[in-house]
Order: sequence, then C-alpha cells, then structure tokens
Amino acid sequence: MHLDQPVSPQSMEEYFDHVVDEGIGVILDTGSFQALHQRLRELMATITEWIADEAGEQSSDDELDRVNRAIATQAALDLWNNTPIPENHFRPHKQIKPERNAPCPCGSQRKYKQCCGTVDTPGLQLPLDEMAARVLKRLPSERLGEIAALGVPPIALGMIARAWFKERRYEDIIALLEPLFFDVSRLDERAALAADTLANAYLARNDESRRQQLVAKLKSAPDKTLRSAGFEREATMSCDSGDFPAAWAAFKQAQRLTPDNPMLARLEVLVLLAEGREAEARERVEFWTAKLARDPDYDHSNLIGLLHQMLNANPLERRLAALPESYPERRLILHVALEGISPPIWRRLEVENCLTFAELHVILQTAMGWENDHLYEFIVGDHHIGPTSEDSPAWGEPVLPDHEVEIGQVLGRRKSFRYLYDFGDSWRHRITVEERLPSTPTERPAILRAGARACPPEDCGGAWGYQNLIVALANPEDEQHSETLDWLGDYKPEAFSIMSARKKVASLFKRI
Ligand SMILES: [Zn+2]
Repeated sequence: MHLDQPVSPQSMEEYFDHVVDEGIGVILDTGSFQALHQRLRELMATITEWIADEAGEQSSDDELDRVNRAIATQAALDLWNNTPIPENHFRPHKQIKPERNAPCPCGSQRKYKQCCGTVDTPGLQLPLDEMAARVLKRLPSERLGEIAALGVPPIALGMIARAWFKERRYEDIIALLEPLFFDVSRLDERAALAADTLANAYLARNDESRRQQLVAKLKSAPDKTLRSAGFEREATMSCDSGDFPAAWAAFKQAQRLTPDNPMLARLEVLVLLAEGREAEARERVEFWTAKLARDPDYDHSNLIGLLHQMLNANPLERRLAALPESYPERRLILHVALEGISPPIWRRLEVENCLTFAELHVILQTAMGWENDHLYEFIVGDHHIGPTSEDSPAWGEPVLPDHEVEIGQVLGRRKSFRYLYDFGDSWRHRITVEERLPSTPTERPAILRAGARACPPEDCGGAWGYQNLIVALANPEDEQHSETLDWLGDYKPEAFSIMSARKKVASLFKRI
C-alpha cells in the first residue's frame, strides 16, 4: 500500500488498520516474533518517512533506519502481547517485555536501552475485544462454533458479535454465539449482550423459530438478569407484531425481575410510541430522565439521549437530511476486487459519481457476473446504503435508501468503500477509487474497462467455499471432484470475456 501526500487522518487510520491485520496474520501463521518484526519494518517504512518529513529535518539513512527499527519493535511488542491465539485458549503467546539491560527484542544483539529503547514511539491502541474480533475474522466460519467452548468470556463474545452486527455478518454471529446458549444454566448477566445480539441476528436472518427458542431458553435461565432479558425480548417481539397486551405483560415480568434495570426505560418508551401513546411516552421520558440522572453509580447520559431521540424524529430522516445536495461531479475510475480470493477476481470501471447506489449495484452485478439473487449493502465510511422498505428493522445503523443516495453525496475524499453482496455468503467487494477525472456526461455513465477471472458461482459458500471448490475442480482425485463438475457444468474459474461483459454493462444504459 502506498500513501499519497498529504496524509489525511483517515488514510493513516486505514493504514494502521492494515498494519495490525498484517501483523496478526504473521503471528498466527508463523508464531515468530522475528518474522513479525521483519514484516513490520517493511510496513512501517512509509510511516517512518512520513514522520521524518513532518519533522522537516534532513535525516541520514542510518538515522531513518534506527527510527524505523524502533517503531517496528514497539509495534511488534504491542501486537505480540495483545494478539489472542486460538490454539492457546485465546490468550496471547508468552509475553515479551523488554528489560533495559537485556538484549533488544529486535535481534540487534545490543542492549535494549542502547537500541530501540532510545527512541520514544507511541504504542498501538489494541483493545482486547477488537483484537479478538480481528483474529476471529481469520477463522473459517466452520470453526466459529468452537470458540465458545474455548473459554472466551461471554462478554467478549458479545462485544465481538456486536461489532460484526454492524457489518451485517449475521451467519457468523449465529455460528459464534449459538453454542454459548446450548446450556443457559451456567450463564449469568455477562451473557446478556451476547443474547441480545444473537436474537438480533436471528431477526436479521428472518429465523423466527430459532429466535423464539432462544427467548424461551432465556426465560427459563436461573440467572435473574438473563431471565429478564428473555421477557424484554418477548415484549419487543410482541410489540413488533402489534400484540400490545402481550408486550405489556412481558414488560411487567421483566420489571418484577430487575426493577432497577435502566434498559426498561427504553422498552417502556418503545412500546408506548408503537401504540401511538405519544403524550404518555413524553411523560415517561421525563420521569426516566430524572430517575436516571440521580443514579450515583452510573452515567446514563447515552441512554437519556437515546430516549429523547426516540421521541423526536427517526434517525434515518435525520441522516438523509444531513447529506450534501451538491458535490463536485467526477468520473471515477473504480477498481473492484473480491476480498479473500487469490488470484484476485477483479474489474475496473469508469463510473459517473452522480449515479445512485441502486444503479451502481446493477452495474456491479453485471460487471462481476452475479445473478442479483440476494440482498446487498454498500458501506461507505459509517454510512450503510442499501435497498430499504417500510418494514426495515428499526434497530442498528439506519440503512440509507440506495435509490435516493448518489455516490458523490457520501464518497467525499474516501479512497475506498465496500459492497457486500449476499449476507449469507458474504461476498465483500473492496472498491478502490483509483482516479477522479472530470465528468464526461457525453459518454455512457458507466463503462467496464478491464477485469480478470470469472465470478464465483452463486451460493457456493463465500470466499471459503469458493477456494474449496477451485481445489476440488482442479484435482480429479478430489472426492468432491465429480460432484462439483456436475453442479457447475462448464464453469471455468479463469475465464472472463471482457468484450462480452463490456457489452452487457453498456446495454444497461439503454434502459436506465
Ligand atoms: Zn533494537
């Protein structure tokens, strides 16, 4: 990855993001601190130059090398000591703590205090739940079910799952959390976040029966807080289906079990608003605001803010209103690549930034060779953009309607964004903005320029399933070989006809 000058805080953040993921990859693949250090020296070279440029001082190559080595050492220590290892019950490898008089961990054979210890470098911020999430991301979905048994604390699992929820990784959440609730008798309130997130994932996947089963289990849990969580969820579900008497009955049960639970405030206001009892909802918000503000132990300002937000407009409307109406018109050169597949399956497109995301979706489907069989979503910074309908879920990030939002309204100076296709198989397309050219309205608004390799077959199980399929296809000895051939017919992974794909993309614009 190359950084353009000047470096924006955002691209710095993306770069460090990349560095952390690379570092974790080396630790998990090699288990070697030296290999990690070597890789970080390469990755940190750009950063070192940037820091030197910022300082405005002329530095000798030797000096740059010394600083680079020290930055890499600090980053390697941070990563090494904070990367949970699946095979080690999700605990990091044996900690390495540099002693001033001990040999420097960079391998220079000199004392730490005379080597990397002489350079003052900022450490990386690596919260444990985030690190665990990054490690889990590398595990194949088939192995997620083992995680709960490894003794990862339920609270950490809940936090990981909540982060995944924002990325709509519902299947992974289910695979990760379901085993945790096989036996609720050993669980306590620390599993409440996990329970909540799992129930939301079922909801997102439209799996009503498993959601009901989970709620029934929670309602029978020995732990009061979990039992209350079950009733709270039941109240929300009844409310969603318009059965308000059942919603209030469940609410009262929850209230009996955990009278001081602040989340009951949200639930009560939610049901009142759903019933259209706005004046009462307003009164209760006032009541809860006063009560929560008196709590000496916790700061409830987030919850209080949320309650007031619920009374006022819906968040989607506010988000839409905040988008700029005008922006510089550009012709973008976009590089689209499927994540997690090598050699890469990629396309290069010219696209006018005045197109809507709904149009871009059709263009991407056609350019890649997908069949438009599944749901999709664009993730641009913290915006989620996709098809929306009246019954879109009211929780989580609001999804902006893709037929209303234009690329230029949200892209800004961003260098990349994501297109997620099929929430089951999770085809993640990384879309990189390679160039921003002046708009050329006389041309077709989208042109396919180049590409390589055939699109994966629909429903083949995501990047992981695809790689297995390629292996089976290539090897006549593979036990899946003939079955795969039967299924795929004359599918050739390497085949891609730019002429034919370009025509298909061009033909879209006779209709749009
Ligand atoms: Zn050193």
